[in-house]
Amino acid sequence: MIPAAFAYERAGSVEEAIELLGRDEDAKVLAGGHSLLPAMKLRISRPTVLVDIGRLDDLRYVREDGDRIAIGALTRHAALVRDPVLATRCALVPQTVQLIGDPQVRHRGTIGGSVAHADPASDLGAVVLALDAELVARGPDGERTIPATEFFTGPFTSALGPQELLTEIRVPAVERGVYLKHQRSSRDWATVGVAAAEVGGRIQVGLASMGPTSLRASAVEEALASGASAADAAARAVEGADPPSDVSASSEYRAHLARVLVQRALEQL
Ligand code: FAD
Repeated sequence: MIPAAFAYERAGSVEEAIELLGRDEDAKVLAGGHSLLPAMKLRISRPTVLVDIGRLDDLRYVREDGDRIAIGALTRHAALVRDPVLATRCALVPQTVQLIGDPQVRHRGTIGGSVAHADPASDLGAVVLALDAELVARGPDGERTIPATEFFTGPFTSALGPQELLTEIRVPAVERGVYLKHQRSSRDWATVGVAAAEVGGRIQVGLASMGPTSLRASAVEEALASGASAADAAARAVEGADPPSDVSASSEYRAHLARVLVQRALEQL
C-alpha cells in the first residue's frame, strides 16, 4: 500500500499547472486526491510527477451565468451540497453529491476530479450526462468546451489531453431532476445509479455502473419522446448498456436494477 516513487510540484496558477504537466509525459494532476492516491497506493497508477492544483482557489466557485450555472472544477462535494444557487437552480447536483462516499470524501473530493477521473461508477458522471453539461478545459492551446456526451471515451479515460486541465463544469438550470442510487451499504459506490432530468423540455437519463463509461439511456429517452409511459420507457433501460459482473452484482442483477430505478426516477420527476 505504498505508492511508487514520484516527484511533487505545487502549481500557483492554471498556467503554471499546464506548464508543469508539459514537462513530463507521466505527470498527473492532483486535486482532492481521493481517487488518485488510492490508485497510486495499489500501484494501478504510477505517475512520475504529481502536479498539485489543490490551492488554486480561483477554481472554487458556483455562479449563475445566463441560463447556466458555472461550477469551478476544484469546488468540493461538501460545498456543492450546501450551495444556495444550486439548491434553487439545479438541485439535482447537491441531491446527488450528498450520496457520494462519506463526509471525509465529500470534504476532500472535487467535482472536477470526479468528472476527470471518468470512473464509470461515478455518480456525477451520470448527472453531467443527463444534464448535457459543458466541460471547460484549458491546455497549452487555450480553452475549449467539451459536451458531456463526448467527454467519457473509455473506462477511466476522457477527452482531456495529457496537458489539459478541466477548469469548469457548466450545467443548465433545471427544475426537475432526480438521482437514484442503489448501493450495498450507505457509503458505497453505486451498484447502479440513475440520473433523470428535464432539460429544454426533454427528459434525459444518465446511468452509472452500467457499462465501460457513464452512459446516456438513449432508448429510454427516445421512447419517452414518442409518448411511452414510464414503465414502457424504463423497459428499454439496458439497450446500449453493457452492465458488468463484479463482486457487487451480476450483470443480470444490474440490468434488473436499471429498469426498476429508471422507472422510479421517471415517476418521481
Ligand atoms: P483526484 O483523486 O485528485 O484525481 C482523480 C483523477 O482526476 C486523477 O487522474 C487526476 O489527475 C484527475 N484530475 C483531478 N482534477 C482534475 C482537473 N481539474 N483536471 C484534469 N484532471 C483532473 N465517487 C462517487 O461518485 N460516488 C461514491 O460513492 C464515491 N465513494 C467514494 C468512497 C471513497 C472511500 C473514496 C476514497 C472515494 C469515493 N468516491 C466516490 C470518489 C470521490 O468522489 C473522489 O473525490 C473523486 O472521484 C475524485 O475527486 P478528487 O478531487 O479526489 O480527484
